[in-house]
Amino acid sequence: MRVLLVAPPGAGKGTQGALIATHFDIPHIATGDLLREHVAQRSTLGNAVQEHLNRGELVPDEIVLDMVRTELIDAKEHRGGGYVLDGVPRNMTQARALYQVGLDLDMTANVALHLKADDDELTRRLLARAALEHRSDDTEEVIRRRLALYHEVTHPIVDWYGSRGILVSVDAMRPVQHVARQILTALETMSTLVDFVPESARRSIDLTGLGAAFGDA
Ligand code: ADP
Repeated sequence: MRVLLVAPPGAGKGTQGALIATHFDIPHIATGDLLREHVAQRSTLGNAVQEHLNRGELVPDEIVLDMVRTELIDAKEHRGGGYVLDGVPRNMTQARALYQVGLDLDMTANVALHLKADDDELTRRLLARAALEHRSDDTEEVIRRRLALYHEVTHPIVDWYGSRGILVSVDAMRPVQHVARQILTALETMSTLVDFVPESARRSIDLTGLGAAFGDA
């Protein structure tokens, strides 16, 4: 299974990404985590990106794409070639470049999983997390900037995945377990299709209105 997560900050990419990775036994490649590790280790790369992270700005595309290419090669050579990518692509340039990397390595994504949630809920979650984790970018001002950037440059790529027939949208406003159940149900269904139905013959799947079917009141 090869999955891309496209979601605003606070939607649960990290939580759901880890869950998908465990369920399908594939690596969870989270660009934010990788970048924060570099910062913590004070590596050359870490020093170069620290200010971007603190301000909630995107780090330069080449840095992220190089990092991701290395991780994908590792996933292919050592983990069977599946992956869940969390945090990339974050703009159209990255989306196109990542597609090219996928073609080169013969491991383009099967599913782009879009987690949908509104800004008030996202801000609430991020501020709650700030009280526990002290991430340098979980302040009110930086959260506003990260959400604005998401709407401006990241969200437009959702339509691109829709037109490629690999988009699955879920409602991330619900409790973690409900969102997880929707995701795993959708991915299990998709995983049986991906080997037999070409992308061009598929349609986007929108589960955002199906709360009741998944146990919501
Ligand atoms: P969130 O989605 O909550 O903002 P992440 O951990 O995914 O959290 O990302 C944290 C920060 O890492 C981003 O604000 C950005 O500075 C940097 N980052 C992560 N992924 C990318 C990427 N693909 N392109 C550019 N910057 C990135």
